[in-house]
Amino acid sequence: MTDLPPDILDILACPSCHAPLALDVDAAELVCSGCGLAYPVKDGIPVLLIDQARQT
Ligand SMILES: [Zn+2]
Repeated sequence: MTDLPPDILDILACPSCHAPLALDVDAAELVCSGCGLAYPVKDGIPVLLIDQARQT
């Protein structure tokens, strides 16, 4: 379910602070390196919505 294209992390940025995101495979989340929000990856699709993210 975390089978994302390898270059997608170069494209995506945090919608809150625009910092790069890092994939946490175990948690199926994209974690922001700037503000620390973690965005869920549902069925292989990153959900980059601030109101869907959790604070880490
Ligand atoms: Zn951020």
